[in-house]
Amino acid sequence: MADDGKLTSSDHAAILVAQLTAATIRKLGLGLGSNLPGRLARKVSPTVLSHLSSQTTRGVIAVTGTNGKSTTSGILSSILRTAGFTFAHNRQGANLVTGITASLIESSNWKTGIAADLCLFEIDEAALPVVAKEVKINSVVVTNLFRDQLDRFGELDTTAKLINSGININQSLAILNSDDPNVSQLAPDVEHLFFGLESVVQTASEIAADATKDISANMELSYCGKCGKEVSYTKVFYGQMGHWFCQGCDFKRPTPAIVARDVEVSATQSRFKLVIDGKVEECVLPLPGLFNVYNALAAAAAAHHLGASREAIRYGMKEYSTLFGRSERMTIEGKSVIVQLIKNPAGATQALASCVKDSKAKVLIAINDNLADGRDISWLWDADFEQLASLDNATMIVSGQRAEDMAVRLKYAGISSEQISTVPKLSQALRQGIDSLKEGETLWLMPTYTNLLDLQKILKTMGYAMNCT
Ligand SMILES: [Zn+2]
Repeated sequence: MADDGKLTSSDHAAILVAQLTAATIRKLGLGLGSNLPGRLARKVSPTVLSHLSSQTTRGVIAVTGTNGKSTTSGILSSILRTAGFTFAHNRQGANLVTGITASLIESSNWKTGIAADLCLFEIDEAALPVVAKEVKINSVVVTNLFRDQLDRFGELDTTAKLINSGININQSLAILNSDDPNVSQLAPDVEHLFFGLESVVQTASEIAADATKDISANMELSYCGKCGKEVSYTKVFYGQMGHWFCQGCDFKRPTPAIVARDVEVSATQSRFKLVIDGKVEECVLPLPGLFNVYNALAAAAAAHHLGASREAIRYGMKEYSTLFGRSERMTIEGKSVIVQLIKNPAGATQALASCVKDSKAKVLIAINDNLADGRDISWLWDADFEQLASLDNATMIVSGQRAEDMAVRLKYAGISSEQISTVPKLSQALRQGIDSLKEGETLWLMPTYTNLLDLQKILKTMGYAMNCT
C-alpha cells in the first residue's frame, strides 16, 4: 500500500482505460456501467484504488450496515458540502470493490489523480474487509444490523464478523449506533464514537400503538457479548434499537456522544434536539420515520468527527430534502421506468401532470398507509387523478396496502373498471407492469414512502439500484 499517494504509470493507464470504457458504455447506452470500468482498471493496475484513495488529505470514511447506507451517506454528503469539504463519493449501488474503484476513477484526473479532501464510501457489509485490505479506511460508520440479508451472508454473526475484521484491518475509528446492541458491541478493541436516541415525544396514541406494532415486527434478538444472555431494555424505539442492558452482568448500552433528544416524528418530517458536546441544535429532518433520525444521527456523528460545525450539520440535514423524492428514470430489463414518490395532493397532482404528457405512459400507483406514509389516505381524493382519464385505453395497476381504495379513487376519476388491475403485492405489480410494456412505452411508478422503500429492496434483488432515497 502506498502512503505518499504517488501514482504509478500503471495507475495512470488504469484511470485512462476505465474512463474511456465508462464513456463508451454511456455512449452506446449499455446498461453495465458500474462494474466493467472498475474491473478493467483493477486488471491494468491492482494498486489503483489504494493509491487514489491515499491522495486525499482527510482520508477515507466508510458507511456500512443493513439499512440506511444510502440515506446516511446522502445526508452526510449534504452536510459536507455545506461545510465546504470536497469529496469523492461512490455512486449508489456501486458499493462493492469494483464499483468503488470505478466511482473513484470517475472523480479523478488521469494525470494528477484525485483532488478532494476525503473519500466517502458506501460499502456493502461483506465488501468492507475486501476494501479495507486495499484502502486505509480512517473511520467506519455502522448504521444497524438486521437479518434481511440472511440468504447472502448467513447468520447475523457472520455479518458482524465481516464488519469487525473490516474495522480491525486499519484500526479504524468505529462510529456506531449505541442503541442497536448488535452494532454497539462491534469491534471492542478500537476507538469508538457512539450516536443514539435519548427520548421520543409521542404526540398521539396512534403513534404509540404503531411503535408497539413495529417493535414486535422488526426486533432482532440480541445477546450480551460478555456473558451471552439475551439483552433487556429500559426503552425501545424501533426494532431492537433502544436503551439496552444485560441482566446477567453489568454490560449495557454505551453512552452516546452524539444524541437526539425529544424526537417528534410526523408523516413527512422529524424534529429533534441534536446534542453534541453538551451544545444543542434544533434540527428538522425532512424525512419521515424514526429510522431516518438514526440515519441523520449517524451522518451527524461522522460529520462532527470530520470537523463540520454544528451549524453545518443542522443546515445540511435540513437541505437534504432537495435530493429526496425527485423523479428518477431507470432502465429495467431494457424497459423504461420512471419512479416518482407521491405523498400529498400537490405533489401527486404534479406527478400525474408529467405522466399524462407522455402518451405512451403506463401507470402503477402503490399506496400504503403506514405511519411514514401518513395514516390518513383521504388526500387521495384531493389529488387530481382525473387527469389520468386522458390516457387512452391504458391499463393502470394499483398496488400496496390500500390498492382497493386507490382502485375506487380511479373509478371516480373516470377510469373504467376493466382498465384497472388491482395487485396489492408490489413485487407482483412491478412484474406485471414491466412485462406489459411494449416498445417505446414507459412505466410511471408512483409509490408512497414505504412502498418506495420496498421498491428499492425489490429492485436490489433484481440487480438495480435507485438514487432517489
Ligand atoms: Zn452480560
